[in-house]
Amino acid sequence: MSDAALRIAWLTAELLRHNRLYHEENAPEISDQAYDTLFRELEALEGEHPDKARPDSPTRIVGGAAVSELKSFVHVVPMLSLQNGYRRSAGEEAPPSDDRWGGPYEDLLEWESGKPRRSGGLRRLLGEAAPRAIAYVVEPKLDGLAMELVYVDGEFVAGGTRGDGAVGEDVTHNLRTLANLPRRLIGAPAGRISVRGEVLFDLAGFERMNSEREARGEKRFENPRNSAAGTMRQLDPAMCRDRPLQFFAHSAGEHPDAPPSHHELLEQFVRWGFTVSPLCRRCVGLEAAIAAIAAIEASRAELPYEIDGAVIKVDNVALQEELGFVTRSPRWAMAFKYPPAQVHTRLASVLFSVGRTGQVTPVAQLEPARVGGVTVRNASLHNEHQMLRVLGLREGDRLVIQRAGDVIPEVVAAVDEPGREERPRVLYPELCPVCGHPLLRSLADEGKPEMVQIRCPNSFGCAAQVEGALRHFASRLAMDIEGLGEKLVGQLVAAGLALRPSDLYALAGRAPDLVALDRMGEQSARNLLDSIELSKGRPLDRVLLALGVPMVGEATARELARHFRGVEPLLAATVDELDAVPNVALTTATAIHGFFADAGNRAEIAALQAVGVRFVPPPALAAGPLTGKTFVLTGTLPSMGRDEMKLRIEAAGGKVAGSVSKKTDFVVAGAEAGAKLDKATELGVPVLDQAGALALIAGGNS
Ligand SMILES: [Zn+2]
Repeated sequence: MSDAALRIAWLTAELLRHNRLYHEENAPEISDQAYDTLFRELEALEGEHPDKARPDSPTRIVGGAAVSELKSFVHVVPMLSLQNGYRRSAGEEAPPSDDRWGGPYEDLLEWESGKPRRSGGLRRLLGEAAPRAIAYVVEPKLDGLAMELVYVDGEFVAGGTRGDGAVGEDVTHNLRTLANLPRRLIGAPAGRISVRGEVLFDLAGFERMNSEREARGEKRFENPRNSAAGTMRQLDPAMCRDRPLQFFAHSAGEHPDAPPSHHELLEQFVRWGFTVSPLCRRCVGLEAAIAAIAAIEASRAELPYEIDGAVIKVDNVALQEELGFVTRSPRWAMAFKYPPAQVHTRLASVLFSVGRTGQVTPVAQLEPARVGGVTVRNASLHNEHQMLRVLGLREGDRLVIQRAGDVIPEVVAAVDEPGREERPRVLYPELCPVCGHPLLRSLADEGKPEMVQIRCPNSFGCAAQVEGALRHFASRLAMDIEGLGEKLVGQLVAAGLALRPSDLYALAGRAPDLVALDRMGEQSARNLLDSIELSKGRPLDRVLLALGVPMVGEATARELARHFRGVEPLLAATVDELDAVPNVALTTATAIHGFFADAGNRAEIAALQAVGVRFVPPPALAAGPLTGKTFVLTGTLPSMGRDEMKLRIEAAGGKVAGSVSKKTDFVVAGAEAGAKLDKATELGVPVLDQAGALALIAGGNS
């Protein structure tokens, strides 16, 4: 593959992974800005190399997919996401001047007027229809959970999360417990209407809830947005009822008789009984809108809820319709993000935490500080390089902490202050803080000091790793063993009842020991044993995920399961055979091979088979004359669309991929076939025309 194709493939996989972390697991790893940088790079590369773009590219879809036991909730009108703009530099409150370009509001100016000497911009798109001053509505961008509510004849009937924009999760049972959600709209028209907005904690309520949790000896919630998301997904609405969540309305989905402007829509929402943020403003002209955006930012620290920016929308609905949509976002609206909130506080100590894979990461324990309305007690130091070289961390340092959206707060700098040089540096321990085993350091890769990993190699004897591996094994997306939570895993390990996943299946023979555990009654022990038994029939891909094979996420696990259809072939696979699996890169293939070559892992897999875990292969694809063959389509076919050809190939058991590689079996080329055909010729991949492809599908010989 060319460099561009490789980079596109990597960006696609990485963005999809971050989408999943953000939308499905509520555990984002990178800030919105970092995500957006990757996203823009992918968009630009796809623009330059449209033939290399992947069909599953995140530039073509919105967010992640809905997963859970909750029912799905279909959005009749898709819930799209907004394009993002950023305020450039922190600090100065620069009013827009003649010297606009390069200023803090550059993205907004570009959005309205386009880039100098380039196309785009609302004004150019509207042409003659553009008013001299465009009217906008500026709203705070509430950092909550996006939600759609459906009303029929004014009565609340259902509501669901955004999910992937087309299908979310039905959380009606929890929404009914929200105190400010109108059950009946005052004066709403007959028929079906859907209202969209955000569900979030007000910060005072969030702090109060945390104090109560602390008083009961429970763990504090770190982050309002994640807690709101977790609460809304509970199956039992009792928990939601106890938590101070609110709904803020900001737009309509289905609304056949909507008012002609956005500000009138918001006024209508208020009349109907919804809460609308009092910070929403109608502004005539971009300068007024920028002033409103700056005013919201200035009041940010005093707001009763979290925001991470402002949303600016063209007010006039007729103009909105004129402007329309780009692939995944309306052109007439933009989310304008503020720089992350920062605060100074002092380092109390550094905790070295040991993860499931034995990796040791430093976490700064802080004197509690309020950032963006939330109390922060610890912050990520990322790795040794960051801690030692970038920050040069010393004991008792005064630190700049940054909190962006719902990412874990991070330490961005240590403040230079008198006497600092005399204080000792913070160093990595030589022994594992959990089990005392000497730590191992991976070799430094030239030029990538941040990639050095420090691990505890005592995989099966280190409580942190044993517990981490068991928790991961039992987690929802893996073996989904209900009732086996963090606390119980800790108890099982401490009591010596389970040290490896296979031990869980032996618990059935040790029921008395299980019942003797703290807070474990006979009934809950029985339920736990039932769900452990049930997990023996999990499909192969989920067992692979549960085993914690390095670099193997859900998508790769599914590919491996589809390709090998059993655990024995996987155990026997060479690196080359693994590399030949669609969407498995050589580095991943090498890591997977290393995992299955390890004696300890092989023994554990054998133990799982011995206790009855079945590694159930996925259902066979429609078998046909093309089973096992991968096709790439290009150009215009004489008498059918490419979509139809794709369906026919798939119905015959074949697969259709987006780009040509050495794994491609056939390229089907029509008129004006471009780079894909060149590539096929270059790689010696057989090329078929429409008739040839149809003959192959019909089972004739090629
Ligand atoms: Zn250890």
